[in-house]
Amino acid sequence: MAERRVSGETLVVATHNAGKLREIAALLLPHVTHCRSAAALGLPELEETGTTFADNAELKALAAARASGLPSLADDSGLCVDALDGQPGIYSARWARPGKDFVAASQKILDLLGNRNDRTASFKCALCIAWPDGVYRTFEGVLKGRIALEAGGANGFGYDPIFIPEGREVTLAMLDPSEKQAISHRGAAFKVLMNACFE
Ligand code: IMP
Repeated sequence: MAERRVSGETLVVATHNAGKLREIAALLLPHVTHCRSAAALGLPELEETGTTFADNAELKALAAARASGLPSLADDSGLCVDALDGQPGIYSARWARPGKDFVAASQKILDLLGNRNDRTASFKCALCIAWPDGVYRTFEGVLKGRIALEAGGANGFGYDPIFIPEGREVTLAMLDPSEKQAISHRGAAFKVLMNACFE
């Protein structure tokens, strides 16, 4: 059987995170004419019970597809710091609770690392597209880099102000949104998704 593809349908973006929604909508713009967010459809925010980014993306995409009756795209992503055994990883959003305070969560990472030299880290992203009948496909992307000595920059969202991508000297939050898109974990996962699933 041919792999399932998306063609000219309305797509639900299964996220309640405004920063992710902004980036995903920009990536989808040339390919999807109608895009609706889970928040706008009143779909509940799910408990992320998976043990990997892919597990959680699949959970969110399948739930949104079943609830909306439309193909749905979910992203699960996070920051993995090598010297912290990969933390916060799949708990990246949870480190900022309560209050979704990413300034505090970023400061926690800076404090845990102190001035140690080993600051390598990566952003990881799993994207899952799911259909109401339970068919789904998952794609992954990675952005390698390091944790800055201090936070800087006002663009982006989440942990962007403390992450310096490989080959750069400034944080993701100091790059233009289009520059971030071109190198990001989400951009990389999107490229594979687009090639595999979009007309
Ligand atoms: P979740 O995928 O909804 O569990 O949330 C993952 C969390 O990881 C987000 O809330 C962000 O804080 C963080 N994160 C994921 N992608 C990025 C990114 O591109 N920049 C900064 N932080 C990110």
